Amino acid sequence: MTLITHHSSVITAFIALGSNLDDPQQQIRNGLRELAAMPETRLVSASSLYRSAPVGYRDQPDFVNAVACIETKLKPRALLDHLLAIERRHGRMREFPNAPRTLDLDIVLYGGLTLREPGLTIPHPRMHERAFVIVPLAEIAPGTSIPGRGSVGDVLRNVDAAGVIKLAGVST
Ligand code: AMP
Repeated sequence: MTLITHHSSVITAFIALGSNLDDPQQQIRNGLRELAAMPETRLVSASSLYRSAPVGYRDQPDFVNAVACIETKLKPRALLDHLLAIERRHGRMREFPNAPRTLDLDIVLYGGLTLREPGLTIPHPRMHERAFVIVPLAEIAPGTSIPGRGSVGDVLRNVDAAGVIKLAGVST
């Protein structure tokens, strides 16, 4: 008799967190705890917290941003569903594009995967031009490659990082 077992492999993924409402620093810390509590997932590391000016719709508070590294057996879609559920628990309302938000969670990288499906694009399509993603990502994973774009460190050299300020004395 042949015993066939299906082991899903463990993937290293990076999640970007952002908040600019209702005590953003606490929202990010709670978000990290909730990432760690997802099934089949381990929180490996988290960047410092950073402050950044809003992009797009500018008449709103500054954002607090961070990036987390996780190891997960969740497939990309299941991971996205968990992130959306966490966002909903944080009371996020999607009123208009780039509106203020209590907690925004994006899949930035999922191993070396490139995926383009309705509702899910990996790597995140705008990550390479967003200093508020690249700066915290470079803090924890400068050597990681972004499919089609080189290493995180390479991409960092091409973004304007001046507006992304590490919050001193704040740990995740
Ligand atoms: P936003 O409200 O701008 O953060 O957009 C959230 C929506 O973007 C989600 O409902 C997802 O369907 C979609 N989406 C596409 N690619 C990604 C990704 N890599 N990570 C998270 N959400 C994504």
